Amino acid sequence: MKIARFSEHGRDGLAVALDGMDFKGLFLDKLGIAGDLQTALEGGPNAIRKLTRTLSLGEDVDLAQVSLRPPLLSPEKIICIGLNYVDHSAESGFVPPAYPTVFSRFNSSLIGHGDPIERPQTSEQLDYEGEIAFVIGIGGRNISKSTALKHVFGYSLFNDASLRDYQTRTPQWTIGKNFDKTGAFGPYLVTADELPEGAKGLSLQTRLNGNLVQDGNTDDLIFDIPTLIAELSAVMTLRPGDVVVTGTPAGVGAARKPPLWMVPGDVCEISASGLGTLRNPIVAAG
Ligand code: MG
Repeated sequence: MKIARFSEHGRDGLAVALDGMDFKGLFLDKLGIAGDLQTALEGGPNAIRKLTRTLSLGEDVDLAQVSLRPPLLSPEKIICIGLNYVDHSAESGFVPPAYPTVFSRFNSSLIGHGDPIERPQTSEQLDYEGEIAFVIGIGGRNISKSTALKHVFGYSLFNDASLRDYQTRTPQWTIGKNFDKTGAFGPYLVTADELPEGAKGLSLQTRLNGNLVQDGNTDDLIFDIPTLIAELSAVMTLRPGDVVVTGTPAGVGAARKPPLWMVPGDVCEISASGLGTLRNPIVAAG
């Protein structure tokens, strides 16, 4: 099942595609007690079934004719993992970490498929990072690796677009990762049952203006998804709707000679098997 959040004429809606069928959906103000996706995730499997059944009885939604929004607008946590592919660690001048490198994004940086990624006026070092994100369905603390995948609701794509000069001003990366309109998330969520267990073996590609710039595979994650859930939940309670962004493979613009920065007018596309394509143009802020 795929779940998309869309907007049309200023009204937000949700749409669902069951078993490879076309998307059907409803505006949120028509959903009534079936509620929003975040509410349904908090309500558990029965609430999700109720929401998706209601949506599947809605109107046809042509994703090409509506604006897509991030699948979740205000997750409690957006946890990003850095240096999680050996080849990207090496190109960035780091040895592969023995423990996951964790930083945070805030909701204020999120945009959906088709929305422009903004290059701020204060930096020209805007870089792409194609990544797989997963969304927690069932929360928990101290989750074991062996049961971790039961806690994953679904997967999506993420462009962890980064301002490299800001990122490297301090040892903490948060500031270079949180400019408004730099965290592209979408185009939709794909439930875990539609993908290989733990999203193993997914090819993950980034194209800038149609040129292949990153070509990775989730089999090369240093810390796989069960390990990330176990390590994160050893520290903090994971809650329904929390988003974990799993890291980017080699090929980022900062590691190239000369560097390859995204500039206004560019188009960045991230694709993975089963997850579609997340496409965003680049514009100048202001
Ligand atoms: Mg990243």
